[in-house]
Amino acid sequence: MAESSPQKKPLPSKHNLGDADYNQLVSFFASIGENRFRAQQLLQWVHQRGITNFTSMTDFPKKLRERLSQEAEIVFPEIVMTKTSKDGTLKWLIRLSHGDIIETVYIPEPKRGTLCVSSQVGCSLNCSFCATGKQGFNRNLTMAEIIGQVWLASRELEPQNLPLTNVVMMGMGEPLLNFDPAVSAMSLMLSDYAYGLSKYRVTLSTSGLVPQMKKLGQLSPVALAVSLHAPNDSLRNVLVPINAHYPLNELMAVCRDYFKDEPRRKVMFEYVMLDGINDQPEHAKGLIKLLKGMKAKVNLIPFNPFIGTAYQTSPKKVIEDFQNILVNANIITTVRKTRGEDEGGACGQLVGKVTDKIRRVKPDVKQ
Ligand code: SAH
Ligand code: SF4
Repeated sequence: MAESSPQKKPLPSKHNLGDADYNQLVSFFASIGENRFRAQQLLQWVHQRGITNFTSMTDFPKKLRERLSQEAEIVFPEIVMTKTSKDGTLKWLIRLSHGDIIETVYIPEPKRGTLCVSSQVGCSLNCSFCATGKQGFNRNLTMAEIIGQVWLASRELEPQNLPLTNVVMMGMGEPLLNFDPAVSAMSLMLSDYAYGLSKYRVTLSTSGLVPQMKKLGQLSPVALAVSLHAPNDSLRNVLVPINAHYPLNELMAVCRDYFKDEPRRKVMFEYVMLDGINDQPEHAKGLIKLLKGMKAKVNLIPFNPFIGTAYQTSPKKVIEDFQNILVNANIITTVRKTRGEDEGGACGQLVGKVTDKIRRVKPDVKQ
């Protein structure tokens, strides 16, 4: 008879220091009797030199390196596939724990490079034109999984001499429904000990969660993009259902105040161009009324179609006419270039691979 093997005790899980921002690392090092400057050193090793192995951190005393190796680890997600578009856009499929897959996109432009980062697997807010929303919500990313996308991209881009100058939180998910991890990750994007990006070049995009936007304004200096998509409540309720909780008068009031201490900064309003739905001159005029007296800029996004959607992209001429109406009213208005089209869409139109785990939950909007 075969001898039954003795039951193995599960190993205690190690503390993932990749999941900690600067303040959390300072507390961690204090808790093990170490000086706060270890936090700075660790961030520099990990995010500036790409080192995640404590034994290689040569300015740490040997004893500390040994202790960290035993008790802690630095784990980021891994790239499972890289897709390159003809226009140079790179898309990485990234595997998280439990096999979830997210997408991160890099868009090269002359003299700059923008990384489009995901904050959730799926999204619960179900905007009617959004492929991510159509998949339902699966789970929030951890801070290590959010900053891990920047870490992985940096490792890939550096050898190719491709710059990473901008980050937009416009991938899969609603970052303000994953508030603390998103804010912590952005603090490392800005930190001189990590990525040192300018606060003007890290942008959080939200569908308009009013209470969380107010909190964000107090905690983080990053740029703000608001997904508007309609000039009135009745249309916005259909396109962006969260509008029923936070209607335009409440949303515009926060936007109006958002950069009140920095007169030169503007909120960016995103507006997806849906053929025959929100792209008519009357909608542009409604938008002018809505933005009156505000420090605002508008980014028109040609709709990126996906299988199963009934929407179509507005014709080029319609987008141009819409833009001209806004420009003539002195509203800075740009049209987003469609990038990475041959690889299934670029930023803000990510599909992911979570269809095996569809789960739509009631959004926890009243945080
Ligand atoms: N949840 C956040 C950020 C992720 S979506 C938000 O809604 O702002 C990033 C941007 O892509 C948003 O402006 C969103 O409205 C836009 N978007 C989503 N699906 C799109 C599609 N199929 N075509 C064009 N833009 C889309
Ligand atoms: Fe979620 Fe943004 Fe997509 Fe709306 S547009 S479903 S908020 S990811």
